[in-house]
Amino acid sequence: LRQRTIKSKRIEAVERMGAAISHEIRNPLTAAIGFVQLLQSNAISKENHTHYISIIKNELKSAERVIQDYLNFSNPEIKSMEPLLLQEELEQVVQLLQPLAKRNSVKIVSIFSPGEGIEGDKQKFHQCFVNIMKNAIESMPEGGILTVETERTTTVSILIKDTGSGMTLEQMTRLGEPYYSTKGSKGTGLGIMVVYSIVRAMNGTIHVESEIGKGTTFKITFPSLLSNSLETKKTEKELVMS
Ligand code: ADP
Ligand code: MG
Repeated sequence: LRQRTIKSKRIEAVERMGAAISHEIRNPLTAAIGFVQLLQSNAISKENHTHYISIIKNELKSAERVIQDYLNFSNPEIKSMEPLLLQEELEQVVQLLQPLAKRNSVKIVSIFSPGEGIEGDKQKFHQCFVNIMKNAIESMPEGGILTVETERTTTVSILIKDTGSGMTLEQMTRLGEPYYSTKGSKGTGLGIMVVYSIVRAMNGTIHVESEIGKGTTFKITFPSLLSNSLETKKTEKELVMS
C-alpha cells in the first residue's frame, strides 16, 4: 500500500502554463485544418479520404480532451466562494459521468453523510471531481466499482475510491506533474495538475492511496463549513422556489 500526501510545490510553475496550454489546443486544430484543406483539394483517393478523416477526428478529439481537463482552470483565481452542499454538487458530477461509467461497466456507489458543506467555487469544484472520477473510471476498463463518499470529522473529506489498476510508485510520485500521462494519445496529463491547483485554492489537501491491481483512493479534505451558512442557503433556495 502506497500513501502520499500531496505537497503543492510544483504548482507555481503550473500557474504560468496558460500559454503552453493554448499550444496544446492549437496544435491539433492546426493539424486538423491542414487535413481539411487537403480534403478540399482535388483528386484524392478514397483510401486517403478515409485516412484523412480519421486523422482529423483524432486531432479534434485531442483538442477536446485538453479543453475538458482544463476548462475551468484557465483562470486559476477563485472568484466566488459560496456555500456548497457536497451531496448536491457530487450528485451532479456523478450524473455527468454516468455515460462513461456505463461504457466501462463501472457501477457508481454514493455514500453521503447528509448536510455536509464546504465553501468553494461551484464550477471549479465540479471540474476537480470530474477529473478525479474520470481517472477512476478510466482505471477500470473491464468494469468495477467507483465509490463516492463524504466523511466528517473536524474537517470534511470526499473520498473517491476505485477498484481499478492502481498506480506504481513512479505514477504516484509524478501525479500532478504537467503532461504526465500513462494513457498515450488518449491522455492529456493535465487532469490532476488542475485538481491540485483547485484544491489548493479552496484551502484543501489531497491524500492518495493506491495498490497495484487493487485500486486507488483519492481523499480530498476541506475545512468544514458552519452548518448555519448552509441553512441560510437552504432558506434562500426555498424562497426562490416559492
Ligand atoms: P490523464 O488522465 O490525461 O492521463 P491526469 O492528470 O488526469 O492525466 O492523470 C495522470 C496520470 O495519473 C494518469 O495517466 C494515470 O497514470 C494516473 N492516475 C490518476 N488517477 C488514477 C487512478 N484513479 N487510477 C490509476 N491511475 C491514475
Ligand atoms: Mg485524467
